[in-house]
Amino acid sequence: MADDCLFCRIIDKKIPSKKVYEDGLVYAFEDINPQAPVHVLVVPKKHIPTVNDIKQEDSQYIMAMLSAAKKIAKDRGVSEKGYRAVFNVNADAGQTVFHLHLHVLGGRILSWPPG
Ligand code: 5GP
Ligand code: ZN
Repeated sequence: MADDCLFCRIIDKKIPSKKVYEDGLVYAFEDINPQAPVHVLVVPKKHIPTVNDIKQEDSQYIMAMLSAAKKIAKDRGVSEKGYRAVFNVNADAGQTVFHLHLHVLGGRILSWPPG
């Protein structure tokens, strides 16, 4: 884990967050600036900066992230209505925190294409 990384520090509980889910591979917490009634961030318990840095050996983390997203969506009642699971990658997509995170957004109509 990286001491200078915001999400590593959140995973390590050095910075407080509103925990939604946790297991051995992932941590999920409420986004501090929610863009929808449901806006949860799912992060791997390994410092991976972006989707571009994912390696084959990280596959267990990626599967765990998707499984957590699926569970969170179900728990929040948006599984059937619909939700979005999003990775922003680098500057043009607006990535601001360089520790991989899956946005789970739902609870309202989400327009397409995104802005
Ligand atoms: P990105 O723009 O990198 O895809 O998403 C980063 C997300 O992290 C943003 O939605 C932002 O609101 C959220 N965020 C930034 N700092 C914090 C923080 O300290 N705590 C929490 N819970 N979320 C944060
Ligand atoms: Zn990190």
